[in-house]
Amino acid sequence: MKRLNELTFDNRFARLGDTFSTTVLPDPIGAPRLVVASEAALALLDLDPAETQDPLFAELFSGHKLWSSAEPRAMVYSGHQFGVYVPRLGDGRGLLLGEVVNDAGEHWDLHLKGAGHTPYSRMGDGRAVLRSSIREFLASEHLHALGIPTTRALCVIGSNTPVWRETQESAAMLLRLARSHVRFGHFEYFYYTRQPEPLKQLAEYVIDTHYPHCREQPEPFAAFFREVVERTASLIAWWQAYGFCHGVMNTDNMSILGATLDFGPFAFLDDYDAHFICNHSDYDGRYSYENQVDIAHWNLTALAQALTPMVGEKELREGFRHFLPSQRRQYLEHMRRRLGLRRAEEGDDELLKRLLGSMQRGGVDYSLFFRRLGDEPAAAALRRLREEFVDLAGFDGWSGDFLARLALEEPESEEDRRTRMHTVNPKYILRNYLAQEAIQAAEQGDYGPVRELHAVLSRPFDEQPGKESYAERPPEWGKHLEISCSS
Ligand code: AMP
Ligand code: MG
Ligand code: MG
Repeated sequence: MKRLNELTFDNRFARLGDTFSTTVLPDPIGAPRLVVASEAALALLDLDPAETQDPLFAELFSGHKLWSSAEPRAMVYSGHQFGVYVPRLGDGRGLLLGEVVNDAGEHWDLHLKGAGHTPYSRMGDGRAVLRSSIREFLASEHLHALGIPTTRALCVIGSNTPVWRETQESAAMLLRLARSHVRFGHFEYFYYTRQPEPLKQLAEYVIDTHYPHCREQPEPFAAFFREVVERTASLIAWWQAYGFCHGVMNTDNMSILGATLDFGPFAFLDDYDAHFICNHSDYDGRYSYENQVDIAHWNLTALAQALTPMVGEKELREGFRHFLPSQRRQYLEHMRRRLGLRRAEEGDDELLKRLLGSMQRGGVDYSLFFRRLGDEPAAAALRRLREEFVDLAGFDGWSGDFLARLALEEPESEEDRRTRMHTVNPKYILRNYLAQEAIQAAEQGDYGPVRELHAVLSRPFDEQPGKESYAERPPEWGKHLEISCSS
């Protein structure tokens, strides 16, 4: 266990130099106070949880103090936002403080979000509000607990520094951890500004630090692209299977490592709705739940375009040809597990489609359906769940076919089935209304609810006696919260 001042830095990205990032010092926020911290994330840096009590903790993560070996940098990138190319984005309000090497030899980016103006701030104030920082914190650590690849969150620090959004709010900072903050948009920036040498240097850097085995391949750049395709397919399979809607799948929010990155107006599905749009500013539904698969594919073609100086068109096409089949296959594997099925059968895809169709028509709660299906023997669970559906004939037909399909599985004890299903079907999901209630308390200075919610969501598959109120269907008001990009 380490103290805060015992961290070891090795700032590889900063060493790439000024073509890739610019030195910027954090602009501190006033009267910093710890809102919430993640013990699991502290462990990634080998930090003693007691360190959160040291005043130095809030000082470091609110920009008041800096490690002598940190090298804060704002990274430059660009990207396609809602399908339109924006030539210059970059870290407009976040700084890569440096890379910490933990005892296991892993490098972790320390990225301070809300750290003030940078050359990439454009019209923005360089700040993050408490509300959005809490949302990102809760989501990062919850997705990780669900098994979904994601950037992590160490802590949120609140302040008395005012910031203006639609109304006056208070500034906060979030300390984000990631194995890399390189985005698809980094490659697009060097491609569209016609800088082939830095573009190649960036690709080599990412391969050497994160995809070293691609070096062994006859065409390392093509192999690298194939792996990004594969990781993205895997990520989107997770999102679709667990009903996670990102909301702003711009290419500058796509991680080169296939991790969930940049949480804004995200939401988990409450009622199953394939057309659900979580981003209130997404008028056309470009980033609706069901569109996430095609958008990820589109984003990969944008990345492929940026790699054309290094990889032949044939290899790139070959690379992203795998995306849809791979995403679909992995998604089906998740869904089979969620339904308690261990083997693959011909009609599984169709069976799943029929279930989702019935859920859509009935407005059935997506997460609770799967959890409850594992609560008791299948026939009994289906009888109880039937009440949630409106298309009863459709659901009865499906139930019969599902029980017949279950009969093809190897027999197993009811207890084993229940345990198996409960380890893939969360009881607790970060619903927008839960975040909202915790945020309202935090805005009044009460951090108890956000800490408790974080603790519950860090063990989403466990029964947690006394915490059942977090596992209920949302109240009607809670399903229609308007969350936009202004964070
Ligand atoms: P996002 O929609 O959060 O992914 O942000 C898109 C771009 O806008 C990124 O380059 C951000 O750094 C920048 N940005 C977002 N909010 C702010 C802000 N309050 N101040 C400065 N830049 C911002
Ligand atoms: Mg972003
Ligand atoms: Mg953002």
